[in-house]
Amino acid sequence: MGERNPYLVERLQGFGTAIFAEMSELAASTGAINLGQGFPDADGPDEVLEAAVTAIRAGHNQYPPGPGILPLRQAVADHQRRFYGLEVDPDTEVLVTAGASEAIAAAMLALVEPGDEVVVFEPYFDHYATSIALAGGRRRVVRLQEPDLHFDEAELEAVIGPDTRLILLNSPHNPTGKVFDADELGRIAALAIAHDLLVVTDEVYEHLIFDGLPHLPLATLPGMAERTLTISSAGKSFGFTGWKIGWAHGPANLLAAVLVAKQSLTYASGGPFQHAMVTALGIDDAYFDELVDDLQAKRDLFCAGLKTAGFEVRPPSGTYFATADIRPLGYEDGVDFCLALPERCGVVAVPSAAFYDDEAAGRHLVRFAFCKQPEVLTEAVERLATLGGAQ
Ligand code: PMP
Repeated sequence: MGERNPYLVERLQGFGTAIFAEMSELAASTGAINLGQGFPDADGPDEVLEAAVTAIRAGHNQYPPGPGILPLRQAVADHQRRFYGLEVDPDTEVLVTAGASEAIAAAMLALVEPGDEVVVFEPYFDHYATSIALAGGRRRVVRLQEPDLHFDEAELEAVIGPDTRLILLNSPHNPTGKVFDADELGRIAALAIAHDLLVVTDEVYEHLIFDGLPHLPLATLPGMAERTLTISSAGKSFGFTGWKIGWAHGPANLLAAVLVAKQSLTYASGGPFQHAMVTALGIDDAYFDELVDDLQAKRDLFCAGLKTAGFEVRPPSGTYFATADIRPLGYEDGVDFCLALPERCGVVAVPSAAFYDDEAAGRHLVRFAFCKQPEVLTEAVERLATLGGAQ
């Protein structure tokens, strides 16, 4: 939480610079290996890079249409049919955004009245808190409980009240790597239907799931397509986080509402990259299989290394984040630990407390991003092993 800033509007007081920015700066100034912010250290597929260059050379350099170019909206619809059997109308049910981030912020601004409540699972991606606050909404959190990250259905039901507008779900889940299973999604869906709630579901890690587990979009559950806004992005599935091409799909009226807010944020963005994403979304299955195999090997290498270094680790089922408990090494506070880590051994991680309302709950946890080359991960765990449990 940041300090009070006299210029900042009341509803954003308490929010400081995003933790990733702070930690990335620390990585840059110390030359440490940056396992803080989640971005890969290699480019995505060549043919997609080429498609972007071709699009620039072909003159696609002016404003794209507000909702996004039709070929990309069509490619999103095709992708949802190909992987999940979802039928989406590219003309009225898809919106291209400046990353998933804009889709989330626009959804909150468009759908949440001041004073409305938004339910999120804690720990949560910190952008959710600021987006809800921007809209003047209030967040209500439901804890994903250690050690298996289950949630208590009664707790979820108890936070839903007359002011609840929507549930903001994230699966696969950042920062824990949890993949919500069919039973859990079914229980969330049943409550959303019973209480007539919208659900905004952030599925940016849809293609980063390990051990053969499936990704189950919430919109595929009975009765959910008509009340769900599904969000994803080029950043995670294709390794182009800097392009900031995201998208949302959902029922036409819901999409039209989100478009009104989105128009006042960027209006449109990333013209040539939108063209390149048509190529990306149409890429063959082998790409996605390799992506998972590669990342799963990195997960295994990195988590094994963390264990050897003395951390307690829960290998994630999805995403490219691993959460480690620092207590076995004799440390208690993740913020102090992460601030000292670059100097101490040349590695940057993020304190998980940043993802909790109740900071005490995540105090002993830190998050590492393992979407890096194997040799970088090997070097990082070798450095971490030098911590050796000494304070
Ligand atoms: N949602 C989640 C859960 C994320 O982890 C991220 C990126 N860290 C985003 C959304 C933002 O995606 P984008 O870069 O496409 O805005």
